[in-house]
Amino acid sequence: AYNRWYNLPTEQLVGRRVAEVMGQEAFESNRPYMLSALAGERVTFESRYTHPDGTVTPVEVDYTPVRNTHGDVQGFFSMVRDISDLKRAEQDYLTGAFNRQGFDDRLAISCATARRYSRPLSLIFLDLDHFKSINDNHGHAVGDDVLRGVAKTLQNEVRDSDIVSRWGGEEFAILTPETSLQDALALAERLRQALYEHPYAAVGRISASFGVAAFDPEEAERDFVRRVDEALYKAKVGGRNQVQQ
Ligand code: GH3
Ligand code: MG
Ligand code: MG
Repeated sequence: AYNRWYNLPTEQLVGRRVAEVMGQEAFESNRPYMLSALAGERVTFESRYTHPDGTVTPVEVDYTPVRNTHGDVQGFFSMVRDISDLKRAEQDYLTGAFNRQGFDDRLAISCATARRYSRPLSLIFLDLDHFKSINDNHGHAVGDDVLRGVAKTLQNEVRDSDIVSRWGGEEFAILTPETSLQDALALAERLRQALYEHPYAAVGRISASFGVAAFDPEEAERDFVRRVDEALYKAKVGGRNQVQQ
């Protein structure tokens, strides 16, 4: 498998340092996991493998420590699994954001974590204003371009740990772990401004309406989502291009 992944014959793999084979940068990002495995822990993490031709494959990596008869760790087995199919199924083909399935899975996990460890968790919904008229006036392809641009703007503004997903047609959801209501409101306001201030050559300015809520550990996920949806509705009724809670 290493021959294939690194496009090197066995003679050029055996006896060489891992860092030389995988590249210093990849080695550095895997180092903390390797150290945990060498300390005797079973480690699983998601990573990205860059092929010699530059293409990238999302992978799941599993390190299992190997012990001698005295129980001392001698090294570890590394199992690397290509998870591109899995990833694709959770991604929206148009924008690259998570799709509804990807979002639902992460919402369930995030709510469970927030509940169990009493951690803050917030959710932002946004719906583009008068989007139908963009399609009507400029065509569906231009509408699609705007959706891609919106996803990019959102992705640029949020933290890596935030989950941007395309909830439906021209509606996006952003799940923000470790974020209070106040901070989520501030983030939504920043996103509102970023979208409004980003002009599109074909259509000019666009705007979006936002709903925000913080998770209540007592509530069911669907009630959490319903509250955010209601806040979004308030923003629409209140005149659009605004944030409501
Ligand atoms: P509002 O401010 O009330 O949200 O007005 P709106 O026109 O955005 O709302 P509405 O929900 O009535 O219309 C949403 C439109 O979004 C309908 C459809 O033309 C467009 N849309 C949904 N999905 C896509 C898509 O994948 N591509 C494009 N180009 N347009 C889409
Ligand atoms: Mg809509
Ligand atoms: Mg809309």
